[in-house]
Amino acid sequence: MTQPPSLPQVVTTTAALRACVAAARRQGRSIGLVPTMGALHAGHLSLVDASVGECSFTVVTIFVNPMQFGPQEDFHRYPRDLGADLAALAGHGADLVFAPQVEEIYPPGHATRVEMRGVAEPLEGRCRPGHFSGVATVVLKLFNIATPDVAYFGQKDYQQSLVVRRLAADLDLPIAIRVCPIVREPDGLALSSRNRYLSTAEREQALTLSQSLRLAADLVAAGQRDAAHVLARMRELFAVAPQVRLDYLVLVDPETLAEVRAITGPTLAAVAAQVGSTRLIDNALLSPPTAHP
Ligand code: AMP
Repeated sequence: MTQPPSLPQVVTTTAALRACVAAARRQGRSIGLVPTMGALHAGHLSLVDASVGECSFTVVTIFVNPMQFGPQEDFHRYPRDLGADLAALAGHGADLVFAPQVEEIYPPGHATRVEMRGVAEPLEGRCRPGHFSGVATVVLKLFNIATPDVAYFGQKDYQQSLVVRRLAADLDLPIAIRVCPIVREPDGLALSSRNRYLSTAEREQALTLSQSLRLAADLVAAGQRDAAHVLARMRELFAVAPQVRLDYLVLVDPETLAEVRAITGPTLAAVAAQVGSTRLIDNALLSPPTAHP
């Protein structure tokens, strides 16, 4: 008889998480950490698979972090279903799920925040004041509690991955940061826990984000180097998607996030838009064709 796929153990306190990680360490196991806010989909699971492939003890955290949501954002309606998340994890080989309540992470009197300048300031930092401070604070806390060797993040949240890399470098954290590729629906829509908010009509128009990135990649691959031209062609696609309101559409240096005028090296195309009441982000790394001698 075949066994049902095993479910990971679930703990809800930092003390229990520390004890499980200490026991794994005593067995000589390496620790991989996958921080998430739950509502798990194949994008999250790709991070779990990467951790299980590289580390011998994988911790998945499920925590909707209030500190990274603005007052007008979707903290209260953000999907929460631990049972569905555990079912999604079945068979992927994660060892432990850490699913704390808010008070466990932010007990009364909690008063410390991580503030970052530089890569945390433009794009999402400008549209969502305080967001990356909330992200950096919770990620540092999760790193301190789980003490991973390796932590896994998605390119889907490209700027977040830069912020986390900066955090680890600036604060001398002995943790390797891996950034995994964006998992998409067959039609190109980047998987997101927020896609479930979209109506059928909104989902159709949300495809404009990934289509514009595809167009940019095609233009750059064909030799186009003028950033203004590429952006104008991308914007044409949004002109026929009235339910999509752009927050930003940019071509930037992938390390500094400074806007580029000429696409002469690796370039990040990044887009954020409000689709109905749902905010979506997407991005693609573009590389110009290498010049042949
Ligand atoms: P979240 O639960 O939205 O905070 O995401 C948790 C992690 O999963 C982050 O590192 C995200 O970048 C990553 N992630 C979210 N969506 C995707 C996706 N479509 N493909 C790959 N990784 C993703």
